[in-house]
Amino acid sequence: MDYDALNSKLKTTYGKHDYEKIMRAFEFAKKAHEGQKRVSGEDYIVHPCAVVDILVDMKMDVTTIMAAFLHDVLEDTSVSDVEMAAKFGSEIVTLVKGVTKFDKLKFANKIDEEAENLRKMFLAIAEDIRVVIIKLADRLHNMRTLESKPPESRKHTAKETLEIYAPFAGRLGMSQIKVELEDLAMYYLYPDAYADLKQKVQTKLTERQEFINKVCAEIKQRLLEMGIEGDVYGRPKHFYSIFNKMRNQNKKFEEIYDLIAVRVIVGGIKDCYAVLGVIHTMWTPVPGRFKDYIAMKKANNYQSLHTTVFTKFGALFEIQIRTKEMHEIAEYGIAAHWKYKNPRALGDTEYSERLNFIKGFMEAEVSLTDNKEFLDIVKTDIGQHELLVFTPKGKVIDLPVGSTGIDFAYGIHSELGNKCVGIKINEKMVPIETKLQSGDVVEVITSANSKGPSRDWLKIVRTTGAKSKIHQFFKREMKDENIKKGRDMLETESRHKGYAFSDLLQGKGLEGVMRRYMFTSEDDMYASVGYGGMSTKQILFKLIEDFKKEKKNEYKEKGAETPSNDKSEAVGGIMIGGYNEQNARFANCCKPLPGDEIVAYISKGRGVAVHRSDCPNLKGLEHDRLRVVEWPKIITGELVANIRVMVTNRKGIFSEISSIVNNMGFSLESFNGNLVEADASGIAKGDIKLSIRIKSMDELNNLINKLRGAKDVIDAERF
Ligand code: MN
Repeated sequence: MDYDALNSKLKTTYGKHDYEKIMRAFEFAKKAHEGQKRVSGEDYIVHPCAVVDILVDMKMDVTTIMAAFLHDVLEDTSVSDVEMAAKFGSEIVTLVKGVTKFDKLKFANKIDEEAENLRKMFLAIAEDIRVVIIKLADRLHNMRTLESKPPESRKHTAKETLEIYAPFAGRLGMSQIKVELEDLAMYYLYPDAYADLKQKVQTKLTERQEFINKVCAEIKQRLLEMGIEGDVYGRPKHFYSIFNKMRNQNKKFEEIYDLIAVRVIVGGIKDCYAVLGVIHTMWTPVPGRFKDYIAMKKANNYQSLHTTVFTKFGALFEIQIRTKEMHEIAEYGIAAHWKYKNPRALGDTEYSERLNFIKGFMEAEVSLTDNKEFLDIVKTDIGQHELLVFTPKGKVIDLPVGSTGIDFAYGIHSELGNKCVGIKINEKMVPIETKLQSGDVVEVITSANSKGPSRDWLKIVRTTGAKSKIHQFFKREMKDENIKKGRDMLETESRHKGYAFSDLLQGKGLEGVMRRYMFTSEDDMYASVGYGGMSTKQILFKLIEDFKKEKKNEYKEKGAETPSNDKSEAVGGIMIGGYNEQNARFANCCKPLPGDEIVAYISKGRGVAVHRSDCPNLKGLEHDRLRVVEWPKIITGELVANIRVMVTNRKGIFSEISSIVNNMGFSLESFNGNLVEADASGIAKGDIKLSIRIKSMDELNNLINKLRGAKDVIDAERF
């Protein structure tokens, strides 16, 4: 540690008064850590000094610098917070405590520990973002000196750095820290790949140095001619981003052409576009590679123009053009804020918008109680938002790659998400789970009658914000009246179907329903029925099915593939997951008719078979492939219905029944009459089973009524 260099840096960066305050913090920390050593054997004070050094380069405010000197004092020495507050004030103590909190808690398993640390981080950010900036600098120095730690802990720290700290730095726009954290983590996690890449990049750089120099010289010459002042220099990509590119795009090192970018830093925005124009006349731009992040700021406030050009030297390369201020924001992100604005002014809209994602995590923290799920979400969500899409009015919305229109809707407003009934991309209706692409114009179709989000959306959405807002919606619906209403509805409907609801709840089916629809409790399930988010049939279908299964098999096992047999009837217009399924067929085994509760079975390569939801064959099928579906408004073609007629047995009765059917204009598909032996009443009966083709439910009901009114008919019913 070069104390003199740090000392003079502090002296020149801060005024005399501030410098003296800072030195008091330094002296205090030095005394408190007296005698303590780092694992490397150095005096402990080296560490706080190094953290301060990082923060001074970022031009952080005096309070942050003082807190950084003191950041390990409360945790590692006998100094109390009261004592520190008396000396340095409560603001500094709050910052130090915030930093300390991160490492304090130890849990039985790593997942809980990690999740808990993250929650602390979010809480700390909400209180004062400077806590995280100090913590990132702290982690950076610990990563720089990781070699002195025991080998087994190195990997764990490196992994945590790569998964949590580096993405976090990226999200806060602190790319300089992010880049260094990533490269250090890569060095420990993938040592071979690191060494290999380092050597290759070095060779390439030497090889291309002359070319880079020529390109820079030509641009400088043009700037001079235009009278624009600016810096021009070449800069290689960092190892981890090359590594990532090779891994994700399955490319060889030789195929990565944008290893080196040329940067042009100028005074004002006008100059940026002027330089861009000139560069495009010097060299031909590569189509589709120009990005205007000045007009369309990235989520982390990154601004720059990017273009890739073909040069006369026969190589492609990227040029980034930005102002000095944009450059500092690109390097230091949110930390650069302290240079341009009042340190405590985080309330200003630009920055609070930028910190919106943290609010998303805070909400997720409340609604996601499972640590594993929380971690998964944060880890996928924390990375850079690279997808830029538009509202119909042209506003830019940034989302993580893989987001859907639902994420988009919730990203704008919770109510827009809750009322969403459809998504249009580039003016075309699309299935709701369609993944968005950069540049898409996304329109959310809403309906005032919408009952709110579907539970299936929880499986579709990509962002923490959308997920937690959907959870919140369901939570809000958990009112007593909804719970009671839902329960009543389920009880009535089960009775209607000939089951006691309490019996249905005893079976294994309940667990399946809870899992299938992601209910958090039984009350949650009732509430969702009560407010109309789910229908009773969606719930009862599975409950009854499993109940029947457990009540011994009254139904013969049939093979799983039976329902998709070729004799089924073609139907159009069944909607499955937003798709109009033209290839749906009605299963022959249960012959569903309009008005029946139906489910679709999506078979492997044999289209979609629609069954009655009480069809016994369903239980042999893979449940993952079943979807509850609705009848289409218009049925095309005829459907087959089975009718069973019980008659008093006498001569000629079978032919009388068949002529009633024929006279009403139905064509008989099949007719089967059987004599049933006389029971105690002494009356011999006939049992007739017939199939007919019908066009509507009304036709069928007419026929059944007619049969019931016929002479010697005991009963007629559909079966
Ligand atoms: Mn530390």
